[in-house]
Amino acid sequence: MLESLKEQDPEAYSAIVNELRRQQQTLEMIPSENFCSKAVLEASASVLANKYSEGYPKKRYYQGNKYIDDIELLAIERAKRLFNAEHANVQPYSGSPANMAVYVSVLEPGDKIMALNLAHGGHLTHGNPVNFSGKLFNFVHYTVERDTELLDMEKIWKLALKEKPKMIVSGYTAYPRLIDFKKFHEIAQEINAYSMADISHIAGLIAARVHPTPFPFTDFVMTTTHKTLRGPRGAVILCKEKYAKQLDKAVFPGLQGGPHEQTIAAKAVCFEEAMKPEFIEYGKQIVKNSKTLAETLMQKGIKLVSNGTDTHLILIDLINTKSVGKPGLGKDYAIALEEAGIVTNCNTIPYDPASPFRPSGIRLGTPALTSRSMKEPEMAQIGKWIAQIINEVENNKIIIEIRKKVNELCKQFPLYPDITY
Ligand SMILES: *Cc1c(COP(=O)(O)O)cnc(C)c1O
Repeated sequence: MLESLKEQDPEAYSAIVNELRRQQQTLEMIPSENFCSKAVLEASASVLANKYSEGYPKKRYYQGNKYIDDIELLAIERAKRLFNAEHANVQPYSGSPANMAVYVSVLEPGDKIMALNLAHGGHLTHGNPVNFSGKLFNFVHYTVERDTELLDMEKIWKLALKEKPKMIVSGYTAYPRLIDFKKFHEIAQEINAYSMADISHIAGLIAARVHPTPFPFTDFVMTTTHKTLRGPRGAVILCKEKYAKQLDKAVFPGLQGGPHEQTIAAKAVCFEEAMKPEFIEYGKQIVKNSKTLAETLMQKGIKLVSNGTDTHLILIDLINTKSVGKPGLGKDYAIALEEAGIVTNCNTIPYDPASPFRPSGIRLGTPALTSRSMKEPEMAQIGKWIAQIINEVENNKIIIEIRKKVNELCKQFPLYPDITY
């Protein structure tokens, strides 16, 4: 594979090969990452990338879209079937522009939207002041509770009654517990607001029925396709039929030009994969793995936000971990873990006293390792390594030793063994 690239452009080729080796030889534990199938990779790299197809199936602005229509219709039909949704737009380039599309489809600039505070697990596109969302709309933020670190639906309801937003957003980037989408929708209904669920992180868990679903009642649901759903880098928006026209207009021509049909083809492949019985097993294993990992970490004195997890995601609180005990060290510990071949990311924790640039937490998760077929015993082992590194971060010998063991483990669970570049 990649023979032409190798011959024509050795520099680009070698960067790609280096990245493949990195993926193969490290433990990928960033919870928003995953390893998609070779079929998804093949569709993403196909000749569909050559085609302009502005518009929608059967309503294109360019000629020559017969087969492009076939693939986009296939993706739409599968997305609807996978999630039990009335309407699907498979064109969004990624999660951030997709959220923008949802907002502008039914809201006016300046309208009020309610979402979770970014520092508590929201997303930049949920009203951060540096992001288009925060600049264009008037966001009010709910929080998690200081003591439980959980969402309190009663308080969120009261805030909604007081603030009367036009849209309520649920769905997060760093919340390890289950989300009550039904309750969110009921609250929105009561104040005549739109309900919007951003299930980017948990779409795969929802497809595998290990997390409650926001379908079919939620007005708008956005998800990226590259996280637990294990597809290509992109997004899809699902909504009720009554909003279909407004939504489609917001995506094109509102925000985007020509759709990336190679990615849409890969989305179609991923949706089909996610409807297979194996995917249910995959989702169940993600959660089993993450619970085992969480238990192991806690047994070794590592404090977790909300004291555990129900999902693919774990958030380590370094301030309340005895061996650390100070704010602002997330980045340093994430670097130490990476030296041992364990790839995570630093993250704010609820009520983090440190700055978002040097936050006090580490976010990690199990979707990618579960795709490598790792199970509970490996999670227990990895949990011990992570705890050891955190508890004895000054001890460089330990990091070197664990790096070797990580290499061995990676060899036992080969990634893309038949990709030969
Ligand atoms: C990842 C994510 C996004 C943004 O997706 P991008 O593809 O990175 O733009 C939006 N919302 C949530 C909750 C996410 O987790």
